Amino acid sequence: MINGERTLMRPLRWGMVGGGRTGQVGYKHRTGALRDGTYQLVAGAFDLDAQRGREFGTNLGVASDRCYATYQDLIAGEADREDKVDVVSVATPNFTHFEITKALLQAGIHVICEKPLFFTVAECDEIRDLASKNGLIVGVTYGFTGHPLVHQMAAMVAKGLLGDIRIIDMQYTHGFNAGDDTNAGDAVKWRTNPATAGSTFVLGDIGTHLYYLSEVVLPHIKVERLLCDRKAFIPTRAPLEDHATVLMHYDNGARGRLWSSSVNAGNMGSQRYRFIGSKASVEWSDSHPDQLLYEVQGEPNRILHHGMSYLEDESLAVDRMGALHTEGLGDSWANIYLWIAQAIDARMRDDDAFLASHHYPGIEAGTEGVRWLENCVRSADAGAAWVDYK
Ligand code: NAD
Repeated sequence: MINGERTLMRPLRWGMVGGGRTGQVGYKHRTGALRDGTYQLVAGAFDLDAQRGREFGTNLGVASDRCYATYQDLIAGEADREDKVDVVSVATPNFTHFEITKALLQAGIHVICEKPLFFTVAECDEIRDLASKNGLIVGVTYGFTGHPLVHQMAAMVAKGLLGDIRIIDMQYTHGFNAGDDTNAGDAVKWRTNPATAGSTFVLGDIGTHLYYLSEVVLPHIKVERLLCDRKAFIPTRAPLEDHATVLMHYDNGARGRLWSSSVNAGNMGSQRYRFIGSKASVEWSDSHPDQLLYEVQGEPNRILHHGMSYLEDESLAVDRMGALHTEGLGDSWANIYLWIAQAIDARMRDDDAFLASHHYPGIEAGTEGVRWLENCVRSADAGAAWVDYK
């Protein structure tokens, strides 16, 4: 169980690029990072609007001389400080991730970056090499994989409780873009423009969460072929998609189906996973993250509850609230931020043994998300054709 007790040498001096007053995801980062005293927010370039960013940063308690106008100013301003920032989170639109991450790593600063990590696998490889050369960690905020019952599913699969994995069924949809974009705000505008979003809209925006979580639960099987069918129901979003279906063949013979859409009218956001084996199935949704449906063929269905002693150790180890109380998205983000902090701390101590066995969403996870997107786009552009996974 996680109880906030310090597990690092010292708190990490933390900064943010983006995530300002109008940013959608910034507060999730702060909720995750500031929970356990593992990070102290000391600097930021929070906003494209420098004045608003400074005002916002000082309201968060950051010294005004460390609320910078741009990320370049942040790097320059921190460079010679004895209490220089250790790690910076990048919570800006997709097209800025690569250049900001690269500049931070070149300045010797660890990075926690939003997904989808970059536009291409080639960019991911370049950043992996740079981070490795400079002895730095890159974390990626796949914020849903800190939920304890996700780790329950992974442990049950690893123990063979489901039998051989046969079918993977995943859905992350909502209806917030069912109408057209006439009055759309900035966050929709950049998401629907290939120059700022990359080669996908919903696949990168929400589909990558599904793909990464399935990798956490099923690390032993890999996609061999896939077929992606995508469409922009609102034509101004083309060539990007607001709806996509992906079929996947795995190397153990399993079949996967993934649905990602932002035009599921009336749907308030649902992320749902069903992993089906030869003996049993598990089903989990982030709408009810404290409950896991466990169905064994021929037996009454069971609902497992987070924090209960009958769960696997891997799930109990990352529980925060205990079974009597609800555990939610903020707790999941706090786990992700803690695991990345532990990786940074180990890197600072040159503790390679710890790093070799420590799991957190890092550069490899970010890269695999981008690789999956590249394969989806290749298939869709070929007319929803089956393609071998590269
Ligand atoms: P947004 O448009 O709501 O906010 C972007 C923020 O970044 C704003 O505060 C803006 O002023 C600031 N900004 C933009 N460019 C900047 C720059 N060069 N320097 C400093 N600040 C800059 O976007 P959002 O919805 O918060 O998404 C941001 C990123 O987070 C995207 O990559 C998105 O895919 C990702 N995201 C992830 C999750 C998740 O669950 N992990 C959830 C939502 C968004």
